[in-house]
Amino acid sequence: MTQHLDICIRGGGIVGHTLALLLARDRLRVGLVAPQPQASEPDVRAYALNAKSKALLESVRCWPDAMHATEVTAMQVKGDDGGEVNFSAASLAVPALTWIVDVPVLEAQLREAVRFQPHIELIEAPRAATLTVVCEGRASATREEFGVDFSATRYPQHAIAARLACEKPHAQVARQWFKEDNILAFLPLDGALGQTVGIVWSAPNPRTPELQAMDAPDFCEEVEALSEGCLGKLTLTGERKAWALQSAQASRWIGVANGQSWALAGDAAHNVHPLAGQGLNLGLSDVAELADILHTRAYWRPVNDVKLLRRYERARRAEVTATDLAMTVLQQLFAKEGGSWQKLRNWGMQGFELSGMTKHWAARQAMGL
Ligand SMILES: Cc1cc2nc3c(=O)[nH]c(=O)nc-3n(C[C@H](O)[C@H](O)[C@H](O)COP(=O)(O)OP(=O)(O)OC[C@H]3O[C@@H](n4cnc5c(N)ncnc54)[C@H](O)[C@@H]3O)c2cc1C
Repeated sequence: MTQHLDICIRGGGIVGHTLALLLARDRLRVGLVAPQPQASEPDVRAYALNAKSKALLESVRCWPDAMHATEVTAMQVKGDDGGEVNFSAASLAVPALTWIVDVPVLEAQLREAVRFQPHIELIEAPRAATLTVVCEGRASATREEFGVDFSATRYPQHAIAARLACEKPHAQVARQWFKEDNILAFLPLDGALGQTVGIVWSAPNPRTPELQAMDAPDFCEEVEALSEGCLGKLTLTGERKAWALQSAQASRWIGVANGQSWALAGDAAHNVHPLAGQGLNLGLSDVAELADILHTRAYWRPVNDVKLLRRYERARRAEVTATDLAMTVLQQLFAKEGGSWQKLRNWGMQGFELSGMTKHWAARQAMGL
């Protein structure tokens, strides 16, 4: 006989797996619908995860080792007319500003941890449960099945991700350039002494097919030019992958459909521009919040108690809306053409660089502190 589930999690990305591990610690009976990944081409994804996400993943014993979670000790952000903002871990008295995590390694660790957790059942298809949590990512079919509106605004950019070997060591510095309608980020990989970076290049839509199709040496030359040759000669070490970029938030994060209580988390609930590397950090904060609310609930409240779920929705919407707005304003500010816009944004960067407390506060927000 199949056992009743307290929680059925649909979606086996990082958010779904982390939630399953958090809930299992409370001895809740969890079902996880997570199809096994197909062996395909090498995965180029590398994400910047903040101190809050690190602490959460450490709490479920899935934080990768130092070679696969590179400490970032400094960040340099450059505008298109002399504007520059610099952050350093030392000046903020923290060990690292963020960590660049090798996504396939993190995903493998999460899958392994789930396999050894007796309270989690890996299931092939959704089962009835007191609460269903949808973590299926941005194209979630269940969200649609539950009738939730997810109107997305497309950015005029695609993000191209790739990995590049560099002539010079990255020295644990994350770098970003805002140049007209291009945003290029260098994410240091392979530990403190590494000479590899993951790049995320948010490029205008019409240029994306050309950038993906061009020969590797030509692509590297384009990246070298945009990055002002700061790490010397660059060599592409794998595939280039592209994602259409959008801003979106579900109209409702919780509800009841066909007698089944549900909640959304991660990219199934919200999508933000990757320019500040916040999407997964937000998704992990969603599941940390939900797990905490369920952990601290009164013993007589079931896991689908509407008061608890409303508290979850309220708490998470506020942070997600603020982050999404900040990303959109930044993206649009740098996409505006014309000399006066260019002056304004670079002047703004210089002002921010000299702002002391404001810069300190913004850095701590981004770190999840
Ligand atoms: C180029 C780029 C760079 C980024 N960089 C960063 C960064 O530096 N830092 C950061 O914090 N965020 C970053 N993000 C955002 C981050 O990728 C997402 O926020 C994160 O992957 C969301 O995780 P998720 O588990 O919610 O969704 P997903 O990663 O999309 O996982 C959803 C999972 O559910 C599965 N699934 C789908 N439908 C079903 C179904 N019906 N049944 C069962 N399973 C299903 C999918 O196969 C998938 O495995 C970046 C995004 C992009 C595009």
